[in-house]
Amino acid sequence: MKSRRPKQAVVLLSGGLDSAVALYYAKAKGYNCHCLIFDYGQRHKKEVLQAQKIAKAARCSYKILKINFPWKGSALLDKKIKIPQRTAKGVPVTYVPARNIIFLSFAVSFAETIKAGAVFIGAHSQDYSGYPDCRPEFLSAFRRMAKAGTLGRYEVLAPLLRKNKSRIIMMGKKLGVPFELTLSCYNGGKHPCGKCDSCQYRAKGFKEAGEVDPLIK
Ligand SMILES: [Zn+2]
Repeated sequence: MKSRRPKQAVVLLSGGLDSAVALYYAKAKGYNCHCLIFDYGQRHKKEVLQAQKIAKAARCSYKILKINFPWKGSALLDKKIKIPQRTAKGVPVTYVPARNIIFLSFAVSFAETIKAGAVFIGAHSQDYSGYPDCRPEFLSAFRRMAKAGTLGRYEVLAPLLRKNKSRIIMMGKKLGVPFELTLSCYNGGKHPCGKCDSCQYRAKGFKEAGEVDPLIK
């Protein structure tokens, strides 16, 4: 007899908008989602808290993995590096070296253990073209590597990969994503600073999507 066990997925959840949309997308596709949240020394611990709230709102289980990057190497990990106020060309100082390689490696290990059929990541290349580990070529190379290095009985899915912020927001709206729980600001305040890269992309995305950001009062 065929098992009635729903299909399982591991979802990387950061507390930001994109991964929340990826989680709700996976749920809409019928997956029973297990969220992986990283407490990796990011300058704003609130991200971890918000990620937990999002997982709870989505009625999904979650695990928090505490890891650290003692060498830092990013403005998101090192308070001595200033968060830029304007979108800069090239690789931004907020890039965390190899972050998605590391996070996805934990996710595929978890997926293989619980026999999940999929791993979801909210990476997208359009806004953050400066992050090398958000590029489509990285994702395809990672899939090949994971297939060679594990039993590989799962898919690695990045449903937002080729979407821009406004399309992601429209998608999230349809899926019922609680945007009020998502944090985007690199400066970590209660309300968006409106100046950092991430706030600017978020504001532009909501504007183009014709939606109101619930974080803007
Ligand atoms: Zn900001």
